[in-house]
Amino acid sequence: MQSLWDESEAARFSGELALRAYSSRLLGRDKSLVLHGGGNTSVKINERNLFGEEETILYVKGSGWDLETIEEAGFSPVRLEHVLKLVQLDRLSDPQMVNELRTHMTRASAPTPSIETLLHGILPFKYVDHTHADAVVTVTNTANSAKRIRDIYGDCVVIVPYVMPGFDLARVCARLFAEERGPKTIGMVLLNHGIFSFGETARESYEGMIQLVSRAEEYLKAQEAWFLPDATRDSVPALPRIEIARLREEVSEAAGRPMILNCARDVRSLAFARREDVAAVSQRGPATPDHVIRTKRVPMLGRDVSQYVREYQAYFNRPPPHVREQKTMLDPAPRVILDPKWGMLAAGGSAAEAWAVSEIYQHTIEVIERATRLGGYQALSERELFEVEYWDLEQAKLKRQEAPPPFAGEVALVTGAASGIGKACVEALLKRGAAVVGLDLHPALEESRPSLLQLRCDVSDPDQVRANLDRGVEAFGGLDLLILNAGIFPGTRELAALSNEEWDRVFRVNVDANLLLLRECHPLLKLAPKGGRVVVIGSKNVAAPGLGAAAYSASKAALNQLARVAALEWGKDNIRVNVIHPDAVFDTGLWTEEVLASRAARYQLSVPEYKKRNILGVEVLSRDVAELAAEMSGALFAKTTGAQVPVDGGNERII
Ligand code: ZN
Repeated sequence: MQSLWDESEAARFSGELALRAYSSRLLGRDKSLVLHGGGNTSVKINERNLFGEEETILYVKGSGWDLETIEEAGFSPVRLEHVLKLVQLDRLSDPQMVNELRTHMTRASAPTPSIETLLHGILPFKYVDHTHADAVVTVTNTANSAKRIRDIYGDCVVIVPYVMPGFDLARVCARLFAEERGPKTIGMVLLNHGIFSFGETARESYEGMIQLVSRAEEYLKAQEAWFLPDATRDSVPALPRIEIARLREEVSEAAGRPMILNCARDVRSLAFARREDVAAVSQRGPATPDHVIRTKRVPMLGRDVSQYVREYQAYFNRPPPHVREQKTMLDPAPRVILDPKWGMLAAGGSAAEAWAVSEIYQHTIEVIERATRLGGYQALSERELFEVEYWDLEQAKLKRQEAPPPFAGEVALVTGAASGIGKACVEALLKRGAAVVGLDLHPALEESRPSLLQLRCDVSDPDQVRANLDRGVEAFGGLDLLILNAGIFPGTRELAALSNEEWDRVFRVNVDANLLLLRECHPLLKLAPKGGRVVVIGSKNVAAPGLGAAAYSASKAALNQLARVAALEWGKDNIRVNVIHPDAVFDTGLWTEEVLASRAARYQLSVPEYKKRNILGVEVLSRDVAELAAEMSGALFAKTTGAQVPVDGGNERII
């Protein structure tokens, strides 16, 4: 493990908090140290308040921030004196603790301080870093873990047995640290949980973490438990997209809402799912307790969702004896699925969530594999994990959960997605929480997002369409919304001069490709948890064809009929099909400044006048069409199919 500290980079950050943010991001960059909101850091800074009094403020990572991207604003400033007084109490419930922390901050708008704030408070060092480093939890999730930690670190760390995170853990740590701290102490290991480092500077604390975790890695290497054999590449099978979509439908039903299902395509996950002892090693529990919130306690083995649900309900109904208060059961759907044929699949309420689950479990697999080589993977008991999964703070979150966006957990496919109306559709759907597969001949080269898959595709080529549908299903698990937008306008040509080649070319893209897409997507749309929805981008030309646009107008009319027949035939499959007829949408790739100017001149109008040449006198934008396409896929049009709605500012030839 290498230190990523860079003096010249660090020099750009002045002030104790800025350096705190910098070295926190260094931790966050290494996934084997910190995963998806795991880990937290702090710095204690002396400040003068409004009354001129000096006080020490504990700036600790706020919840909702990720170490990888944290900024100064992501740290919650809590008065240290109050934190230390809290630790003196005999008891304090977690909700009370959060309330005390929130009411003793110096900035009202700061995020809620980390649940591990008290741990940062009791460690008497300026900078404190805490991670759930893979190498450390690998060692602590084995038999005799305390002895192993002692072998690795000698008297450089204080060892704390497992206690659930929160007030009690802070008390135990405060006591043990005071009793056992020696002159060589540079860290604290929490068994089955993670590790703390600290120091008087940001660099010292950060590099202390690197050094401590490196020692755990060295130990694993010395025990021949570090390097894992390579699995062979050719063993990753093609996935049957309909069966994956069916599994997603069942998982969604168990969750009570649409879920994204991401298929991990790495050889290690596949090899893990195929281990002979997978039923034993995978059912022990997560590598560190807070993963239980994301991954649930155990993965589902195979594809029997109803069996998993029954087992989860049984687990919920045998809570630890001392849990007295009424708990609300979380949805019983699996988050991690291990199937010997397909490998590992991860489920989440959004693409980002599913991706986080997948990444966490990929790390869990390595932890389990290494701990097994070390003599056997052990996890916390079912009872201890239940306490974390159902602790008060998580239960409280359920009550104040905001309604998810309308297309949360749903998957949309948009053709012609890189520009104009298609691009605007992608944005409108992402904004509403969908995961989007965008197909385009020239896909947009933008930063990848977990919820957006941009693929190169000639939609008139059946092989390309099928291959890209496979990729979409691999990434998200199925298909709910289909926006057929790709089309071509070949330019103006009078019928007498229209060649068969041009006619065929226009029909191949505007009609044949859409028939292909409809046919290939139909079995997936049938499995959409909330019913499938198709929106076809038609044209004003269907009702009011234009001079010199024979091929275009005829092809769009054919597409329109295709959509209407689909609406007739697919109602029984709970799939709605509607058509939008835009006109005069000029902010697309088709319209250059010159074309616009020459068109306007033909009507003896200025360009702005030409753009608003409709009954309402408004300019129709790609975004207007996209917003309607998104709404037509939503609740507002839940009982509408086979409809055709114009977005054209009103056209007298149509009205
Ligand atoms: Zn922790």
